[in-house]
Amino acid sequence: MAKNGGKSEKERLYLGVDVGGTKVQASLVEESGARIARDRCRTPRDGGPEDVLSAIETAVAAAVKKAGFELADVAAMAVAVPGVVDPDSARVVVTPNMCLSGVDIGRLLGDRFDMPVAVGNDCNLGALGEKWLGSASWAESVVAILVGTGIGSGIVLGGKLWRGSREAAAEIGHIVMQIGGPKCGCGNYGCFEALAGRAAIERDIRAAVDSGRGSLVTQLTDGDLSVIRSGILRRALAAEDEVVTEIMHRAAEVIGHACLTVRHLIDPEVIVLGGGVMQACHAFMMPTIEEIVAADQLPGAREGGRVLLSALGDDAVVLGAVALARRLVGRSPFKRRFQKKQEYPKIDETSFGQITVKGKTHSRDVYILVNGKVKKRNKSLAKDTYGNSHVVGPKELDLVCRGGPEVIFIGSGQSGAAKLDEQGRKYLSQRSIGVEVLPTPQAVEAYNKSDRRKAALIHVTC
Ligand SMILES: [Zn+2]
Repeated sequence: MAKNGGKSEKERLYLGVDVGGTKVQASLVEESGARIARDRCRTPRDGGPEDVLSAIETAVAAAVKKAGFELADVAAMAVAVPGVVDPDSARVVVTPNMCLSGVDIGRLLGDRFDMPVAVGNDCNLGALGEKWLGSASWAESVVAILVGTGIGSGIVLGGKLWRGSREAAAEIGHIVMQIGGPKCGCGNYGCFEALAGRAAIERDIRAAVDSGRGSLVTQLTDGDLSVIRSGILRRALAAEDEVVTEIMHRAAEVIGHACLTVRHLIDPEVIVLGGGVMQACHAFMMPTIEEIVAADQLPGAREGGRVLLSALGDDAVVLGAVALARRLVGRSPFKRRFQKKQEYPKIDETSFGQITVKGKTHSRDVYILVNGKVKKRNKSLAKDTYGNSHVVGPKELDLVCRGGPEVIFIGSGQSGAAKLDEQGRKYLSQRSIGVEVLPTPQAVEAYNKSDRRKAALIHVTC
């Protein structure tokens, strides 16, 4: 764009906006994919399209202001919408749970913000985000399955979304998996989503409770079973609640068979599982899913075809939107000449009890996140689980691996006292995140040398 022609590479910024059923999230993102600011606001429940556009405007303005920039500094934006969209005309065709059907959202927002605006389906963009910077960044063929209230999906082949002939590809939630099964929101019966989406899980829990079976969920929701959030499902699973365990096991089986269906149809290098239900309950569901996929009797010509968990979580959709915005202005992140690496701080030195990063000395363990920020290590995450801070497990990795690094360096202390436990290794391999556990001096050297998207957990003091 002529408007941005004079800008240096350093200043090129993009906006990714995720318009969800409950909240609108806007992120200001650098060309490398590093998020520099984010803001959210509630999606208006009543009112018309104008109210949703205003909510987008509020979130966008707040995110840009937070980072100390102006709208004129942004090269382009893309909006992710839950529904059928026509990316070519940047128009929303249908949003079943929102009032944007038929709205020329690209043109309206383009006029309002005076910048190019692209529009995409949220789950399609989630898949694109995982291909750009997430679990599937190394793969040419990716299918993402996002299990939330409903179940959405996206297919990315060679850095491009497979949109279908009618912009309706990858509606995996509506593949019929039980003929004559329960009615789906789409009007058909026995869809994948009507068996394993959160709304279906909630429906089955309510039916079990109505039939007289006791469940912890009644207590956890204060008796209001109208909405059972993913966090409640996780707590009920942790407490081995019989009703929830049974229903979630069934849902995991259905998801496992859906993965097999995807494999038999597309045979992608990676199937990425994400969405609120997977994020909250993956520890319980993944073993069942992996078991079903591993038991596949139909062979391929070689090994491969992995089923992984999302490395980006909530950010996948927004980052996919940024990838789309970049393509709109001719700077696709999948073209080699436009690939821009994140810049990382150099670790200057370590000695027992301290570490110096970018000239600043810290007298404690630190995390260096994938966006280059240095944070104090939260030792209580290890202590609460293991009784000491020498074991690194999933809870802590969930914090330090936010943003989906390709590799994490764990400095285990001068004498190598800290360890990564078996669950931690599994956490990383399920997200395709590489790991090097080394005594701190060697880990620092390896971190400084690596030119990959990286994170670090450096243990320097007990
Ligand atoms: Zn359906």
